[in-house]
Amino acid sequence: MTQTTLPDLSHLWMPFTANREFKEHPRLLVEAKGMYYTAHDGQKVLDATAGLWCVNAGHGREEIVEAISRQTRTLDYAPSFQIGHKDSFLAAKAVSEVMPETIDRIFFTNSGSEAVDTALKMAIAYHRARGEAQRTRLIGRERGYHGVGFGGISVGGISNNRRNFSGMLLPHVDHLPHTHNLEKNAFTRGQPEWGAHLAEALENIVALHDPSTIAAVVVEPMAGSTGVLIPPKGYLEKLREITEKYGILLIFDEVITAFGRLGYKTASEMLGITPDIITLAKGISNAAVPAGAVAVRREIHDEVMAASASGIEFFHGYTYSAHPLATAAIRATLDIYKKDQLFERARDLSPYMEEAVHQLKGSPHVIDIRNLGLVAGIELEPRPGAAGARAQELFQRCFDKGVLTRYTGDTIAISPPLIVTKEEIDLIFDTIKAELQNID
Ligand code: PLP
Repeated sequence: MTQTTLPDLSHLWMPFTANREFKEHPRLLVEAKGMYYTAHDGQKVLDATAGLWCVNAGHGREEIVEAISRQTRTLDYAPSFQIGHKDSFLAAKAVSEVMPETIDRIFFTNSGSEAVDTALKMAIAYHRARGEAQRTRLIGRERGYHGVGFGGISVGGISNNRRNFSGMLLPHVDHLPHTHNLEKNAFTRGQPEWGAHLAEALENIVALHDPSTIAAVVVEPMAGSTGVLIPPKGYLEKLREITEKYGILLIFDEVITAFGRLGYKTASEMLGITPDIITLAKGISNAAVPAGAVAVRREIHDEVMAASASGIEFFHGYTYSAHPLATAAIRATLDIYKKDQLFERARDLSPYMEEAVHQLKGSPHVIDIRNLGLVAGIELEPRPGAAGARAQELFQRCFDKGVLTRYTGDTIAISPPLIVTKEEIDLIFDTIKAELQNID
């Protein structure tokens, strides 16, 4: 095994990382190809998480590498305001083709966090354009993750992400209850039967605040980062019904769930529920270049366009919106998804992965197993007084055995690239099973 010398680790402040612990036991990746990373000590590591739920087509895809290098040689950058470049329009069309039919206007961002904050602003701008400027209230959900912008953490429901900033979050935000319930739903395969009624809490929130003050409800159709929470049957349908009834926009944050993660173009397609706005990132560019987007219903776009007589209609955007490298990566990525039929492949593999993960029932510490599409969550009983420690140890042990997993709290999340084979699925869950025996 070729070893890579470690650099000075002191200068970098790492995101969402236990920095001190990491720097004592560094885990650096130096290469990636297909399903595998190579770590700095030369060890091959099977990527059971598609990086951070984003490398859906597998690592180092030549078509994407080619497209990016061609693009940077031809047009490295074009200002994104008041001027365009051809690839941005082609990429917008390509993204719109993956979205539900009525959602075909695309705004580019660089990340999921930016996509969420953009979507929230769009919702408010839309209501103002229609003469309902009082609709400024936003409804998120407990345990929701919508990135780390002030908009995203305000509608988000993960306490650790909000605690430091509690006095500074957006005003006029309320939260639906989360849908996690071990007593009712533990070890459910796919969508749980119990829990649709939790969406009715929206009626109470609406009654409390008056519907005419509410701009939008934002939820992840499947909540990933909080630890894989699967929507109960009928739950999202009910949210759609209630939002429609009161003229409230429904935003699906599909940063994780779009682009094949659930075996479909979007969660919206899988579940047959069309929101008004969809936020995107991660799999949109196979993570080869940072990219995100907001896809909106045409009417929302048109209302905002029509509201100002001339000039800039929406005062929002990023220096790197539709960056040429991002749009090149997006187009090449979407081509691969289509050519290799990766969404269909993920759909076909889902039952196999469901079977494999549910084999862990009965293993030490496992108190729940959840799955949807090519996503699985394994929840462990927390160690008394040390929440998260058990999952962290399992993560470390699996990494040492050559399998990259992910943990949030005491849930291990698995979301492999859609090119994963059945043998690799077996290896992932066999490794987890073996290591569960080794932790206390
Ligand atoms: N929204 C959801 C549902 C996510 O899962 C994430 C990231 O995991 C984000 C938003 C934020 O995306 P980013 O980290 O690209 O800002």
